[in-house]
Amino acid sequence: MEYKIAVIPGDGIGPEVIGEAIKVLDAVGSKFGHKFEYDYLLAGGCAIDEKGTCLPQETIDKAKAADAVMLGAVGGPKWDNMPGGERPERALLGLRKELGLFANLRPAIMFDELKGACPLREEKVQGGLDIMIVRELTGGIYFGERGFKETEDMGLAAYDVEMYSEKEVERVAEIAFDMAMKRNKKVTSVDKANVLESSRLWRKTVAKVAEKYPEVTLENLYVDNAAMQLVHNPKQFDVIVTSNIFGDILSDEASMITGSIGMLPSASLAEGAFGMYEPIHGSAPDIAGTGKANPMATILSVAMMLKYTFGLSEESDTIEGAVKAVLEAGYRTPDILTEGKTLVTTTEVGTLIAERI
Ligand code: NAD
Repeated sequence: MEYKIAVIPGDGIGPEVIGEAIKVLDAVGSKFGHKFEYDYLLAGGCAIDEKGTCLPQETIDKAKAADAVMLGAVGGPKWDNMPGGERPERALLGLRKELGLFANLRPAIMFDELKGACPLREEKVQGGLDIMIVRELTGGIYFGERGFKETEDMGLAAYDVEMYSEKEVERVAEIAFDMAMKRNKKVTSVDKANVLESSRLWRKTVAKVAEKYPEVTLENLYVDNAAMQLVHNPKQFDVIVTSNIFGDILSDEASMITGSIGMLPSASLAEGAFGMYEPIHGSAPDIAGTGKANPMATILSVAMMLKYTFGLSEESDTIEGAVKAVLEAGYRTPDILTEGKTLVTTTEVGTLIAERI
């Protein structure tokens, strides 16, 4: 089979980790007889420099024409002082909206080999951790009406509106329940229904979707409690479904529990099989160009792409197995290095994983 992939390396360590992911994908192609065709596109700071905009129309058009999109990371200090609407990170919001990527899947998996990096006491994570966070990605406060207004006696005010429709909640909840059916059959919906009207509609709509999945247990948690429970008893979670802003915060919290930000992949899905796949970390300007970046998150994102967009489960499992094998053999980038392990560079990790495909 032939697959057309739009590749957006971006800024900082983006191109470095994407390079290693492509190396691994090519190894998968050779082993299983698939042809992966890459269309390299600009977005982020490098697009501002070359095209004067963080998200050129050509990037949107070509990404839409591809079967899937791989993204490194965007942003960096060079563009930090630009006005909000022109910053490289706006490219991410633009891509999500233009490509209709309404559900963000972030697995927080703790590899047994890395349990030393988990900041929680060992008994809290005994036997490993495997949580899937499903975050709504194209609605809520990040996309709502925003603006400024002068107040009478409190100076200038700014506002951002949180709004969700039933349809928006339904489609992301369905993804969460579908995931749960393939996992441990539990969904925790996180909201702030004790305060927010939008959360009350969220909760009611999720409950309606749950009726179609009688085998799945639905639990509702307020976001403040969910944040607490994630560090108190993370093993209670299977699939968490939540809004854009709550998901943004909780998924970072969950990622820290698992150890390194350099290990965690993500998928952003549209209706049908189309998706954009990227590591959860940013462009890490502090280590760009030093060979210290861990490419495993991006490589594991490729595994998600093979599974969720291309339906290639065996190929996906092969990548995950190769990553595990490299960890078992003791190879580590600095972010996950512990005593007695072998320090390797970004490109060495990519090569070691590709060899094990
Ligand atoms: P970051 O994720 O880039 O880095 C946070 C810390 O984690 C840094 O110390 C970094 O060195 C380390 N780190 C990140 N990825 C790593 C990897 N693969 N291997 C080893 N260490 C890694 O977050 P930040 O420093 O807050 O942001 C830097 C830039 O990235 C900013 O411009 C920010 O806006 C942007 N950003 C982009 C995305 C994205 O493109 N999806 C996401 C988050 C932040």
